[in-house]
Amino acid sequence: MKILDIDSTHCLIGGRWQAPLSGELLPLFNPSDGTELCQIARGSADDIEAAVSAADAALAGEWRRTTAAERGRILTRLGQLVLEHTDELAQLEAQDVGKPLTQARADAVALARYMEFYGGAADKLHGQTIPYLDGYTVYTLREPHGVTGHIVPWNYPMQIIGRSVGAALATGNACVLKPAEEACLTALAFAELAVRAGLPAGALNVVPGLGAEAGAALSHHPCVHHISFTGSVAVGKLIQKAAAENVVPVTLELGGKSPQLVFDDADLDAALPFLVNAGIQNAGQTCSASSRILVHESRYDEVVTAMSAKYRNLKAGPALRDLNVGPLVSQRQKEIVEGFIAAGHDLEIAAQGEIVADAPSTGAYVAPTLFAKVSPDHSLAQDEIFGPVQVIIPFRDEDEAVAIANGTAFGLVASCWTKDGARQMRLARKLRAGQVFLNNYGAGGGVELPFGGTGLSGHGREKGFEALYGFTTLKTVAALHG
Ligand code: NAP
Ligand code: MG
Repeated sequence: MKILDIDSTHCLIGGRWQAPLSGELLPLFNPSDGTELCQIARGSADDIEAAVSAADAALAGEWRRTTAAERGRILTRLGQLVLEHTDELAQLEAQDVGKPLTQARADAVALARYMEFYGGAADKLHGQTIPYLDGYTVYTLREPHGVTGHIVPWNYPMQIIGRSVGAALATGNACVLKPAEEACLTALAFAELAVRAGLPAGALNVVPGLGAEAGAALSHHPCVHHISFTGSVAVGKLIQKAAAENVVPVTLELGGKSPQLVFDDADLDAALPFLVNAGIQNAGQTCSASSRILVHESRYDEVVTAMSAKYRNLKAGPALRDLNVGPLVSQRQKEIVEGFIAAGHDLEIAAQGEIVADAPSTGAYVAPTLFAKVSPDHSLAQDEIFGPVQVIIPFRDEDEAVAIANGTAFGLVASCWTKDGARQMRLARKLRAGQVFLNNYGAGGGVELPFGGTGLSGHGREKGFEALYGFTTLKTVAALHG
């Protein structure tokens, strides 16, 4: 298959599109109907070796000499090219991962925003001068780590590539990107657009393949100086162990079990779209999905009734039909989510959405499912489901709400719906999360807003200006001149 005008079976190494060294390929499936879409490279440790060498060469050559202002211009041009190709990118993503077209288009626009944001920021990351002893001049330099490894999942390929590769390139690192086996078409398209934007050879290399092969080779490579990983907790632990062997920093973004707290004084009309959308967007396959809705007992029945009404109107179907919910990314993921729903067999299903009648039986569809009166310690309220499933949990007072909200191993995002300003400020401090939203959820994506978690949600921050610090290392220079 052609992606823009490149071959879907190729890797980008040192500015050249080339077949994987082993010649081995992998099939890529369309989860809307289970058909094979195309084939992609099964990158191996040898391809990773070549990509890391190409990145190293870029750091010794043209890319090292590219000024911050010029890096910014290249990223800005790349953002413009992404915008011009929004529809093609959205079509590719919809077919590859089953994302409804409107949501896929939003991801492409977000990818462009990351390039604009980091393009604009590239020459605005400054060091400091530090007053010191008489006769000294002391200053700091923010330098790139060197070769950065980017291991990306299938749920938001464009956004996650945008946030990590964008910040890494803005700060002058040379990147090796390993997209997810199940979602690599937009990664290839993005890389081709980067070439067209004038990014020097080797500054961005892309090696598709399996996690246990290309991904493991990248995370263990001794010449990789920083690893950015988004995905499961289990693989995140492997990445951190691999990084420990080489003593290199890692950014881990491992998902969550993010709550929205609805208090007795909440404006339910304002809250309702956020309560539901934050759970079912991208079929719930969102690290910052809000899968737990905590409701004060005085508003509990009202919230269950209102959310149930919304759920009954939700439709799941093929991505190109652009309904509320697409298929899950794969049959494997569908089975995992169905397993969770089966584990709730003794609970009350408040409402379910509909899988449209003409959705192919070979697609990976799961009906959006809302559980009521779930105990906070039930697996449905503790584990990341990564599907269109939400649970509603009642609480008695603010202390109990905070205890339930903080009572999982995760800590990515939380939100509070209350008009009480003092309560808003208290909860913003008490909730264990990397982002807290007050009377909203997700703030429309927020390219500008630092993002990341605590606990099993991971560590390190991406997005916003903060990411530029993570992708650089600080050097202190002290000159004694008398
Ligand atoms: P995953 O296995 O963690 O995959 C994420 C990325 O890591 C993919 O590029 C994957 O490659 C790669 N990978 C896998 N094994 C690796 C290894 N040993 N060394 C280096 N890289 C490796 O996630 P998944 O299997 O796609 O999804 C499983 C669960 O993870 C989901 O149900 C969900 O709970 C969670 N998840 C979270 C996020 C998030 O945004 N936080 C995103 C996706 C999934 P391949 O896929 O090509 O093998
Ligand atoms: Mg696919």
